[in-house]
Amino acid sequence: MRPIQMVDLKRQYTNIKSEVDSAIQEVLDNAAFINGKAVTDLTSALSAYTGSKHVIPCANGTDALQIAMMALDLQPGDEVLTPSFTFVATAEVIALLRLTPVFVEVDPKTFCIDPAALEKAITPRTRAIVPVHLYGQAAPMQEILDIAKKHNLYIIEDNAQAIGSNYIFADGTSKKTGAMGTIGTTSFFPSKNLGCYGDGGAIFTDDDALASRLKMIANHGQSRRYYHDVVGCNSRLDSVQAAVLNVKLKKLDEYIAARRSAADYYDNAFKAHPKITVPYRAPYSHHVFHQYTLVLEGVDRNGLNEFLAGKNIPSMIYYPVPAHRQQMFASSGGGNFHLETTDWLTERVISLPMHTELDQEQLEYITSSVLEYINK
Ligand SMILES: *Cc1c(COP(=O)(O)O)cnc(C)c1O
Repeated sequence: MRPIQMVDLKRQYTNIKSEVDSAIQEVLDNAAFINGKAVTDLTSALSAYTGSKHVIPCANGTDALQIAMMALDLQPGDEVLTPSFTFVATAEVIALLRLTPVFVEVDPKTFCIDPAALEKAITPRTRAIVPVHLYGQAAPMQEILDIAKKHNLYIIEDNAQAIGSNYIFADGTSKKTGAMGTIGTTSFFPSKNLGCYGDGGAIFTDDDALASRLKMIANHGQSRRYYHDVVGCNSRLDSVQAAVLNVKLKKLDEYIAARRSAADYYDNAFKAHPKITVPYRAPYSHHVFHQYTLVLEGVDRNGLNEFLAGKNIPSMIYYPVPAHRQQMFASSGGGNFHLETTDWLTERVISLPMHTELDQEQLEYITSSVLEYINK
């Protein structure tokens, strides 16, 4: 059996080597390393794929969130609602810009922000909502869109984990995650569902004025060369990364199908077990399984993690400490939030290997090993 990894980037590369190598070679031959043709090609391909009118590439997913928040007219002290059960970048950027992160409870089934808790957290200082499409499942966007409209709030969708996912509205129409809010952001970190071979990110919006502002902020606040209108930053996606992404974007739907079929295998093995809750698949979401995350009841999670490691099966806790309990927010009142579901989940989740190259033999070995431990 081939060695099992959380994400098998090497095997994936081997399978697309000739296409990737020639795309990279083309960048080298043309020596347009910044803003080359590969970058403009990617921008239009992403726009077509997501249905978002404007795509602004940038250096990483954290920058994408930061630039998005800089482009909106937010003032220090303005409150931004976000889940605590997420990767910390989401909340970190809010605090970095001297905005106030307000941590909102998640739904234990979807792992995404809970609309009822969201509405309760709104105050006169609330200006924006940052939902996270966690683990590859769309957040409940219809409710979030309704709440934002009612209270006149911006939405920045953190789509770092769910590119390619659809949100299906009640009337049957659907939209891509990241293309429904005021702004959407994503990350092309290598292990993400659409990952490059270094760092990368992108920002999405349908709003023309906002798009020019986002572009300007990502490029030193520059409106035309050497004229700088606002304080910005330097955040670029380079052409080599774009060349890799152009190859992989064409395969994204195929990659999503591979992830979903691995998830089906896991579901079938685990769904009947009383101590295991398999990932809920919300009827409104096309889950793209960035992570395959179980909730365990009455199982020694660390024991399972070590048992699997002993069998050369990696497993991970995403995330061992929720944002509101991180040291970085200790001085700004993170500990004042009481998020029972978030804490409850944090103690019970475990993610199994999930990527595009898992085969039957590996899946069989992983599932039987997990069950061996839990049933022993
Ligand atoms: C990965 C990730 C980010 C940050 O992306 P980087 O490219 O690593 O900066 C932000 N939010 C979420 C939910 C993520 O998973």
